[in-house]
Amino acid sequence: MIDDMLRTPEAIRDAERWTAHNYHPLPVVVSSAEGSWLTDVDGRRYLDCLAGYSALNFGHRHPTLIAAAHAQLDRLTLTSRAFIHDQFADFCRELAELCRKDLVLPMNTGAEAVETGIKVARKWGYQVKGVAPGQANIVVAEGNFHGRTTTIVSFSTDPDARADFGPFTPGFTVVPYGDLAALTAAIDENTVAVLLEPIQGEQGVVVPPEGYLPGVRRVCTERNVLFIADEIQSGLGRTGDTFACDHEGVTPDMYLLGKALGGGIVPVSAVAANADVLGVLRPGQHGSTFGGNPLACAVATEVVRLLATGEFQRRSTELGARLHAGLRSLVGRGLVAVRGRGLWAGLDIDPSLMSGREACERLAERGVLAKDTHGATIRLAPPLVITEEEIDHAVAQLAAVLAG
Ligand SMILES: *Cc1c(COP(=O)(O)O)cnc(C)c1O
Repeated sequence: MIDDMLRTPEAIRDAERWTAHNYHPLPVVVSSAEGSWLTDVDGRRYLDCLAGYSALNFGHRHPTLIAAAHAQLDRLTLTSRAFIHDQFADFCRELAELCRKDLVLPMNTGAEAVETGIKVARKWGYQVKGVAPGQANIVVAEGNFHGRTTTIVSFSTDPDARADFGPFTPGFTVVPYGDLAALTAAIDENTVAVLLEPIQGEQGVVVPPEGYLPGVRRVCTERNVLFIADEIQSGLGRTGDTFACDHEGVTPDMYLLGKALGGGIVPVSAVAANADVLGVLRPGQHGSTFGGNPLACAVATEVVRLLATGEFQRRSTELGARLHAGLRSLVGRGLVAVRGRGLWAGLDIDPSLMSGREACERLAERGVLAKDTHGATIRLAPPLVITEEEIDHAVAQLAAVLAG
């Protein structure tokens, strides 16, 4: 096929002509997908090693999830929370059971789950802990990524995420990630919560030192502070456990969930916590027109049922070991370091070879899609339905790219 017969270049031009340039996508225009594979407008196939930043943990168009969505589309799609619908109770109960919590509060996007967690923690602080009015603070970590709202970027440490978006929301203290002493020292009588990712995804799949999460749990309990785990990217099977916190046997007071909860079909997020925490909310104090809608609940209930089988967590553990073994074999051969857990890996490329962006462009030319995070770091997060052969294929293509 000669280049000017391809549909891709024009499709890219059209996409860039009509949108704000708040993303720098790889030069690929996708038109269909199934399982771990994408097909572009010119019929080329790509192995998806990003999985929508973990929104596609069950792969593209998982048959069970698509069937649930189709069936619900033919019955009822939206009521608003002004009325109760028949998909709501099952979703909330089954998700609460998966989280081993009393209650669930459904929203749509991850950022909304984070905002919900912040609001609930503050109200809990004033009403239950007895913090003086207007004084609540929340301890967060350097290198965090919790979303893009004005309040959330207020405590980001990424200059791109913050610059020219102020004035910022007060009430947050930033400490180094993985440093328990610094976190402990930052807690005072007005601290209502510690908000952390158990593994920092956007930062490059940064795993904290062993013992850090149990330490945070212990300090939060001792100081009467809520431990809020942002498991929006790390949760729901990605690391080989249902939640990344499970790996160290840690139970946070609040889970923030999103991404994979919507099965790659609809945006679904949620906060899960016990009644002494989520019970502080009364009618009119928080809400969302689309949060917990029938279509979202129908799909997300099936997501929870897929996770309840344990199959995807097992796949992530077993196939993740294969992925990490393959990647470790490239350390010293173009890779400087590999981090991660389960089917989730952050790779630092030797910066003298190429940037992360360049590596991802070359991988795309070889039919593997991944995304750089910062500088020379790439994140791999393939769908949990990926096969051994497909993992080997991805590692082989990466090896070829690094070999130049
Ligand atoms: C993606 C992400 C968010 C924000 O989710 P959106 O659905 O994009 O708003 C929050 N926290 C973490 C850890 C994430 O990875």
